[in-house]
Amino acid sequence: MTEKQVLKQFEETGALLSGHFELRSKLHSDRYFQCANVLRYPRIAEKLCREVTARAVKSGKLGKRIDGVISPAVGGILVGHEVARALNVKCVFAEKVQDGDRKDATGKPLTKLAMRRFALKKGERYVVAEDVVTKGGRVQETIDLVKAAGAKVAGVVVLVDRSAGKVKFGRIPMFSLMQMTPVTWEPSECPLCRAGGKPCHPGS
Ligand SMILES: [Zn+2]
Repeated sequence: MTEKQVLKQFEETGALLSGHFELRSKLHSDRYFQCANVLRYPRIAEKLCREVTARAVKSGKLGKRIDGVISPAVGGILVGHEVARALNVKCVFAEKVQDGDRKDATGKPLTKLAMRRFALKKGERYVVAEDVVTKGGRVQETIDLVKAAGAKVAGVVVLVDRSAGKVKFGRIPMFSLMQMTPVTWEPSECPLCRAGGKPCHPGS
């Protein structure tokens, strides 16, 4: 698949919107990306995940044996499922749990990832799958869980890398279907506002 074909699928499924948006960060943008919208369609999800998995396999960097795919919940689960289908291995996921009684600055309980219903076996080799990587925090947490169980991470597979190639996981290779760097502006510097437009909230 070419990048143009991938973009077309994102646009046709409503995963990538064009317009004038106020993001959760309060910044403005002319694009809004919600990966879950493309994953609503199983056949398209399967095709996109098969494509990025094939690239990872072809690179020869995953090594010979893969025992399973692991994803951070919730966003990564559907990608993990389809990557596992492409590799013909099992898929498991790590889940958000409350991180003791730690709270953020606003008093909201902090969460961390944990293995709640699946056990990872020592020596197993996993691919970590995720929908979107921005800073890579949740993928790194998943890698740490795999390592803590005495298992290994063969590679990381994501649909979209929003970090402009900046996110790295040490020596673990990462493969993405495409890079998509968001263009954002402070409201006072937004060219769309200057042109007289009013931003809308994506999803509403
Ligand atoms: Zn604006």
